[in-house]
Amino acid sequence: MKYPSPLRRDARTLLEQLDRRLDRAYGSPESELGNKDDPLDEAIYIILTFQTDLARAGSVWTRLHAMYPLPAALDGAPVAKVAAVLREGGLHWQKARIIKRLLARVRETTGHLSLDVLREMTDDAAERVLTQLPGLSWKGARCVLLYSLGRNALPIDGNTFRILKRVGVLNRGAVYRRRATHDAIQDAVPAARRRRLHVNLVVHGQRTCLPVEPKCFECPVREVCSMTGVRGARGRTPRWAGLTSARTRGLQNEGAK
Ligand code: SF4
Repeated sequence: MKYPSPLRRDARTLLEQLDRRLDRAYGSPESELGNKDDPLDEAIYIILTFQTDLARAGSVWTRLHAMYPLPAALDGAPVAKVAAVLREGGLHWQKARIIKRLLARVRETTGHLSLDVLREMTDDAAERVLTQLPGLSWKGARCVLLYSLGRNALPIDGNTFRILKRVGVLNRGAVYRRRATHDAIQDAVPAARRRRLHVNLVVHGQRTCLPVEPKCFECPVREVCSMTGVRGARGRTPRWAGLTSARTRGLQNEGAK
């Protein structure tokens, strides 16, 4: 089925502005995200990041890795013991079961407890394998492609989707659970810029463009943001504003740089 484009008409220009402004503000601090070089480690880490913050996910990963340094040990461990190690990150029973199913599927599919076979595959083929594994969506698959396999993927998580809607890159009707949305955003960003934009958007969602009460008054992209759906940004002048025409002004200023 063909869906209408999820992108607004000026999405590419806006993504370029976001990339530049966010990078000036945050400098792509990739080590804060805790992603892993090994593709199987990264797949497990992605599951640990569900519904929790990066600090907790990182702490749970450290504990899990200390308890089960090798995938074979984790594969052989009882679900209850794994769940107990994951407790701090929440949804621990659910995550433990998904991780166990993931390991079993990797073992059955590749004959090993490893995803190194992906290193020889094209991006599309590797993504197909990854999205068939328990616990990995397009976002999770593209994190493995980006961080462990060094491919030019742009993962879109829930926070990034929210930011892009607020800023005005995405149409109001854009749907997260649709592959076309993920593809359209990725295709609109030049391959060489995807990694740093992804890192900076994740950091922006954790530090500034929070799910509730985003810190628009100190936001590095406020001049180009339409604040779609942000409470207080419509119907009355927000305290950080003068912003009704700021997006236009910001785009004009950027064009001159
Ligand atoms: S101005 Fe507000 S809504 Fe827009 S990106 Fe910044 S924090 Fe988010």
